[in-house]
Amino acid sequence: MQEKNSLKTPVRYFKGVGPKKGELLAKLGIGTAEDLLYYLPARYEDRSNLTAIKDLKIGEHQTVEGEVITCTNRIAKSGTRFFQVAVTDRTGFVHATWFNQPYLKDYFKKGQRVILYGKVEVHDKLQILQPEYEILEGDDTDSIHIGRIVPIYSTVAGLGQRYFRSLADTAVSKYCRSLVEKLPTYLLAREKLVDIKFAVRNIHFPATFENLEKAYRRIVFEEFFMLQLALAIKKAHSKASAEGLGHKVSGKLIDSFKNNLSFELTEGQKKAISDISRDMSETRPMNRLLEGDVGSGKTVVAAYALVLTVQNGFQGVIMAPTEVLARQHFIGLSELLMPLGISISLLIGGMTPETKRQVAEEIRSGRIDIVVGTHAVIQESVQFNKLGIAVIDEQHKFGVTQRAILKQKGYNPHILVMTATPIPRTLALTVYGDLDISVIRELPKGRKPIETYWVEEEKRGKAYKFVKEELEKGRQAYVVCPLIKARVQGPGPKGQGATEIYEKLKTEIFPDYTVALLHGKMGLQEKDKVMKEFKKGKIDLLVSTVVIEVGIDVPNASVMLVENAERFGLAQLHQLRGRVGRGEHESYCILLADPKTEEAAKRIRAIENTLDGFQIAEADLDIRGPGEFFGTKQHGLPEIKFGNILKDFDIMERARKEAFGLVAADPALSEEHHQQLKTDLLDKFKDKLELINVA
Ligand code: ADP
Ligand code: MG
Repeated sequence: MQEKNSLKTPVRYFKGVGPKKGELLAKLGIGTAEDLLYYLPARYEDRSNLTAIKDLKIGEHQTVEGEVITCTNRIAKSGTRFFQVAVTDRTGFVHATWFNQPYLKDYFKKGQRVILYGKVEVHDKLQILQPEYEILEGDDTDSIHIGRIVPIYSTVAGLGQRYFRSLADTAVSKYCRSLVEKLPTYLLAREKLVDIKFAVRNIHFPATFENLEKAYRRIVFEEFFMLQLALAIKKAHSKASAEGLGHKVSGKLIDSFKNNLSFELTEGQKKAISDISRDMSETRPMNRLLEGDVGSGKTVVAAYALVLTVQNGFQGVIMAPTEVLARQHFIGLSELLMPLGISISLLIGGMTPETKRQVAEEIRSGRIDIVVGTHAVIQESVQFNKLGIAVIDEQHKFGVTQRAILKQKGYNPHILVMTATPIPRTLALTVYGDLDISVIRELPKGRKPIETYWVEEEKRGKAYKFVKEELEKGRQAYVVCPLIKARVQGPGPKGQGATEIYEKLKTEIFPDYTVALLHGKMGLQEKDKVMKEFKKGKIDLLVSTVVIEVGIDVPNASVMLVENAERFGLAQLHQLRGRVGRGEHESYCILLADPKTEEAAKRIRAIENTLDGFQIAEADLDIRGPGEFFGTKQHGLPEIKFGNILKDFDIMERARKEAFGLVAADPALSEEHHQQLKTDLLDKFKDKLELINVA
């Protein structure tokens, strides 16, 4: 039994919604009255202010209303077919033109009144090209469709604007009153927010743009607030005490680690280390994100945390996204930690089952202090004796849920997540909103800025000549290709294959130098050997795929040449460039690129113009939007339907402040005026309920 005006009333009970329309609405995710209320317009048209045809301004987007005088399908001299409607409003004439849509002839009739919206241009005569249109009906003079600010929804074929708008109108007039205010009154007052009924009514049918603005702000605030509330609760929860983790931060081991360092730590590194010491000295587990651009020296900070845990009688693990990177860490950390008498071991998929079993046994017994491996292997096969810290490197490669997996295995260690994708502030507050954050902003002293050049195909020869000069100076170089083997046939973009480029460079271009190949399909031992020899300087030029994208550290390499740079994402290019400029030598990044789209060209220019990873990340976010920024949804970006986390950043900050304040004051949401929030939150995040132990 549905109550009268229940928000859960199915839309198929609405007048004019049959099974067919019902299905189309379902496609848009609309099943109930409530869904309709929260299906927000994509944009608005100010039809309270129609432009008279005689006042149309060339080049601007405008709305006119008029009567159809003629409608014709025509063919231009060029052969293009188009459909044209002449419209008058008694002040003048304008033509609406649509290309390749002859069927429009069935919709328009002489004598109809229509609304047209689009860019006004002059081609022989005054025209609106490919306008959006709406055909008015007799009683539409003072309705929801005209004479006011009109909502335009994004719909599917079969659900016209008029139809959809009428449904929205029904929903608003009959069901808005059933909406329940979930935000406490004090919050509405403090944040100057309108109540939910006003907001929903005005987001659909605003009387003024000012009301629309208020409605939007309220709805977005609520969305962000609920998200931040979940994060605040999750954070409070993950900090619940874990017995015995509180580490003593001074001791012999830590002292000798610090004294053994061959360089002075940067300010950012020192700050991160002090943040970590503070966290790890507490009994509740650390949950910290360490952000730092490529080459900023995150590894040594991680090493510090590992040493700290060993000094306190615990084990540590560091997980990397690829085997190559795990090996790198193993080599790097061995250099730093073995002299201190710390036992460290590698654990990756490519090792023999026997070795793996042996290592796993030593980890279980506690004979091994530090394990370095890929996250997959560590997840499946390891039991720790006494795990004190898990370091997760290059987090953006696997997704935020990684942390939860360790916990599921029964560990509740300190956690340090490291990422070289500088995360724009706005994303940091959402994706990693439950973590504390340390940022290393500067690179170690003495690094020379990397010079970056965008080179076109014709100048390939010159680029090679340049590489040769560097090799002659004793430097090493990378050549990175998008593919292992060139694709010359079939669908999809063509691209340089590492295999072919390798052959060509080895035999034709650099016959006097040692050229090697590295790609993901090679066996582990082979890859390993190549990397080792490159690191030792026995290989001059390494042709590879993006397997070397993250973390590889060879200070003598001074040139990064990227083939088909237009095929790589911004973050990837920035990572690749970060493979050079890691020593005292002047370094260069050469991008061979032939961008076919404006977006690709923008990426190349962004890389060319700045070395600052944070700026690049902002540009990336701007070009691709937040969803794409992290690759896929699984990467932990919560779904945000209404707000725009870039444009509405100020709302996010307010919402966060309020949400964290609320949880600090009422952690279990037990106060009377928080009951509705609690119910809704439990409802909204029911799959992620480990988050909320507030019952
Ligand atoms: P990333 O942050 O990209 O993981 P790494 O930890 O690999 O960077 O460090 C890059 C290089 O910089 C390494 O060779 C490391 O030894 C060196 N390095 C780290 N910190 C400093 C420092 N404070 N001064 C000089 N060199 C440093
Ligand atoms: Mg690294």
